[in-house]
Amino acid sequence: MKTFDNYSFKDKKALIRVDFNVPLNDKYKITDATRINAAIPTIKKILDDGGSVILMSHLGRPKQGPEEKFSLKHLINYLSEKLNTNVKFADDCIGDSAKNLAVDLKPGEILLLENLRFYEEETKGDEDFAKKLASLGDVYVNDAFGTAHRAHASTAVIAKFFPENKLFGYIMENELKNINKVLSEVKRPFTAILGGAKVSGKIEIINQLMNKVDNFIIGGGMMFTFIKAMGGNIGNSLIEADLLKVAIDTIEKAKEARINFYLPVDSVIANKFSNEADKKLANSYDIPDGWMGLDIGPKTCKKFADVIEKSKTILWNGPMGVFEMPNFEAGTKYIAEAITDATQNGAFSLVGGGDSVAAINKYNLKNKVSYVSTGGGAMLEYIEGKELPGILSIKD
Ligand code: AMP
Repeated sequence: MKTFDNYSFKDKKALIRVDFNVPLNDKYKITDATRINAAIPTIKKILDDGGSVILMSHLGRPKQGPEEKFSLKHLINYLSEKLNTNVKFADDCIGDSAKNLAVDLKPGEILLLENLRFYEEETKGDEDFAKKLASLGDVYVNDAFGTAHRAHASTAVIAKFFPENKLFGYIMENELKNINKVLSEVKRPFTAILGGAKVSGKIEIINQLMNKVDNFIIGGGMMFTFIKAMGGNIGNSLIEADLLKVAIDTIEKAKEARINFYLPVDSVIANKFSNEADKKLANSYDIPDGWMGLDIGPKTCKKFADVIEKSKTILWNGPMGVFEMPNFEAGTKYIAEAITDATQNGAFSLVGGGDSVAAINKYNLKNKVSYVSTGGGAMLEYIEGKELPGILSIKD
C-alpha cells in the first residue's frame, strides 16, 4: 500500500486539496489558523523530498463567483511566514495564469490557488473543472478531511485523473487511523457521549453505534426529547416532537442490545434562554412550565463521570448544555474533565464535532484527550458507516 511517507515526491508537482477554510476578521486577518497549521507537515514532507506544492482549498461560501472577503490571497502572508518562503498565488484556480504559474514551479516552491468555490463547478463535482485542476499537477494528495464527505470536484472527482498517483496526506491518514480505533480496535467498555441541540442530527450515529458501544450517555438539548418520550415534564426545554417515537424505539433497542442508556436525572433550569436568566436545580423529569433545562445538574455529572472513568474507549460529540453561556457550562466542563481523567488512566478518547471541539479548546484540554477530529460532519458520517467520496476516490 502506497503511504504518504513512503512515496517520493522528488521532482513532482503535488496538487494538494487542503482545508484552509479558516475564520477571517473584518480586516481579513486569520483569527484561528488551526487548519492551516495542521497541513504544514504534509506540505513540508513534499518540499523536503524535492517536490513542489500546489495548494487548493475553499474558503467560506461564496454565492456567485469571486468575492473579496472569500479570497485566499488573505492567507498568502501567513503561509509565507509559516513556511519561510514566498508563496506564489494564482488569482484564478484554473485558466492560463494558473497553468503558467504551475508549469514554472520549481522544486521547493509553493503555489496557492484562488478559492475553488468561486466556480460553482466545484461543489457540483463537475468533471471538466476537475480535469482542468488535475492538469496542474503530477500527483494528487487529499488532506482535507473536513470535506471528505462531499463529492466535490477537488475532493473526489479529480482523483480519477491520477489513477497511479493519488494519496492521502498526513491529516487524512491520522484522522482515519484514530477514528478506526473506535470502530474496529475497540477496548471495552466503550462509552459514547452525545449531546448538543438536536436528536435529529445524532440519531444515525446512535443507530450505527448501537451494536458497538457498552454505554450511551445522553446530555444537551437532545436529552429532553428522550425524557419527554418517557413521560417526563420538560417545561419549555428543547423538544423535537416528531421524534418521540424514534426516541422510545432507540431506548428499547438499546435495552434489547443490553446497552446502558444513561439520561440525566437532574438539570440546571432557567426561566429564559439567557446567561442572565434566573436559574435553579430541578429533577430532569419534572421541570416546571415556563422553565427550560440548559445544563445537566451535579448528580448527573457524578453519575456520568462514574461511567466515563471506568471506560476504556470514549467517543464524545456534542456539549452537555449551553456551554457558550458561563452560567450553563459546568456540566460540559465536568464531563470534559472526566474524559481527560479517563484518558490519563489509559482510555482512548476521541472528541469530534464542532461544538465539543470548541468546548475542549475553551477548557484547554486539547492535549489531554487522545485525539480531536478536525472534521465534524465528515467524522460523523464515517462513524455512521457511510462511504465518504473523498476517501473512496483515493482507495479505489
Ligand atoms: P449540535 O450542533 O447539535 O452539537 O448542538 C450544539 C449546540 O447545542 C450548542 O450551541 C449548545 O449551546 C446547544 N445546547 C446544548 N444543550 C442545550 C440545551 N439544553 N438547550 C438548548 N441548547 C442546547
